[in-house]
Amino acid sequence: MHFLHPGQWLHHHMMRYLSISNRALIQIIKPKPGRNGKKLVSDFDGEVPSDIDSLLTIPGVGRKTANVILAVAFDTPAMPVDTHVFRVANRIGLTNNSKTPLQSEMELVKYIPESMLTKAHHWLILHGRYICMARRPKCEICGLSQWCKYYEKKGRPSLNMTAPYF
Ligand code: SF4
Repeated sequence: MHFLHPGQWLHHHMMRYLSISNRALIQIIKPKPGRNGKKLVSDFDGEVPSDIDSLLTIPGVGRKTANVILAVAFDTPAMPVDTHVFRVANRIGLTNNSKTPLQSEMELVKYIPESMLTKAHHWLILHGRYICMARRPKCEICGLSQWCKYYEKKGRPSLNMTAPYF
């Protein structure tokens, strides 16, 4: 049996995440017949804009996608908040029980240094996908339990406990 070194494991899963993002990016970036392409051609000379306000005017591009484009395509500090980031940030206490992805984003960008934002985004996603899952967080093997508000409040949650936020 072949085991991955923890660094290789992280790299492997991060690449998987990035390839999904890149596919989503290509759908938006590639001018094609349809609403996205028309908007890109008519308003932006066929170029993908690099500021969030312009990105949000493109049909089908919401705040999360716009932030992914900024972070991945333009290497700009950004915090796209998906379901994993939202849940994990609330559980750990990085956000103060935020009610919406936008609230979560605003709190995270306020406290995480710009130079670490994109990395932090990937870490939160990976942690939510493989350790701090929605229905069955693996608190018993989680390296963050000593700092986690959810863990502190609930003690050692049973494996069957439903998550409070999703
Ligand atoms: S201790 Fe549990 S709830 Fe807290 S981050 Fe880890 S897995 Fe999630």
